Amino acid sequence: MILVTGGAGYIGSHACVALLSTGEDVVVFDNFCNSSPIALERVQKICGRPLTVVEGDVRDQAALEKVLTQYGCTSVMHFAGLKSVQDSVAQPLEYYDQNVIGSHRLLRAMQATGVRKIVFSSSATVYGTPQFLPYTEEHPLSAVNPYGRTKLMIEEMLRDQYASDTSWAVAILRYFNPVGAHESGLIGEDPKGVPNNLVPFVAQVAIGRRERLNIWGNDYETPDGTGVRDYIHVMDLAAGHVSALKVLDQPQCFSVNLGTGAGSSVLEVVRAFETASGRAIPFDIKPRRAGDIDAYYAATDYASKLLGWSATRSLQTMCADHWRWQSSNPNGYA
Ligand code: NAD
Ligand code: UDP
Repeated sequence: MILVTGGAGYIGSHACVALLSTGEDVVVFDNFCNSSPIALERVQKICGRPLTVVEGDVRDQAALEKVLTQYGCTSVMHFAGLKSVQDSVAQPLEYYDQNVIGSHRLLRAMQATGVRKIVFSSSATVYGTPQFLPYTEEHPLSAVNPYGRTKLMIEEMLRDQYASDTSWAVAILRYFNPVGAHESGLIGEDPKGVPNNLVPFVAQVAIGRRERLNIWGNDYETPDGTGVRDYIHVMDLAAGHVSALKVLDQPQCFSVNLGTGAGSSVLEVVRAFETASGRAIPFDIKPRRAGDIDAYYAATDYASKLLGWSATRSLQTMCADHWRWQSSNPNGYA
């Protein structure tokens, strides 16, 4: 049995599909602060298999210990946390509380119940300003905002815990830019309020919920001047988690990139989404967004060597699948 914290969220729900599809049993632990229980009903519909849902907060160590014991969990995938860079700047204490203290309580609960296998959702943001590209896992680590610092602190906590007890098995997965949705169109990303991220915003323009896209800068050091990122299909990302869990059959601690290795510019994403949706995406060029970097993308050699995994889906597939979800659920899970 695998405990999936934050399993109702965007990436967690897709990971649940991947886990159930490979025959694993899953108990989701989520407080639904940024998600809907409907996502988990849809996961079960896609897989034709049940999962268990427990509502709770990862800062509640006693509740976690109870779930780990009651369901006989042998491993944990830890997605629960807050993820907005902007909000983390405005409310840093909330971010340290939910992300850092939440992870600490989870590790305590694991220690108390003898569960020592964990896959953690980290982010390429821990590499900070690129000193070279692609980012390899050896790139120096630094964080440039409170959200990034929470991820870095949790990574350090995990490495320290492994150093103190090498019977643990710890996978730190550094995600690049997850987009897309399960091919069924039944689950996908459902951001609350105005989306900060590019693809959800573009999708809402395509469906008519927003009028125009703002492109934050076209004077970057990139081929067309707009920012370049490594977009990865969320189902490729989910498959990466299943591969990581297999490797954790042996005690060890590793950090690995989950990306495609290829960068796409904002304009390339807009064009791909126009093709996928058959709709025009009107946009305005606006000044640069504070804190944005020109370009970054993943080195993928270590992931393919260590996990035997690599991303296979193209940007066009990411946009087509994202559009299927958005067009069949114009208001998300609401
Ligand atoms: P999400 O907000 O869709 O999912 C997070 C889930 O955790 C939600 O279901 C939310 O209700 C739950 N949650 C939050 N705080 C909780 C708490 N204290 N107790 C219990 N449940 C709680 O986000 P996502 O995009 O699926 O991201 C999942 C993880 O991946 C996060 O840790 C995020 O930081 C990390 N990550 C995301 C991205 C991205 O671009 N989406 C990139 C890198 C890393
Ligand atoms: N972006 C944009 N308009 C938006 C949202 C994002 O032009 O409404 C750009 C942003 O400047 C960056 C890229 O799209 O170059 C990806 O941004 P996102 O917020 O999705 O991811 P991150 O910056 O965290 O990599």
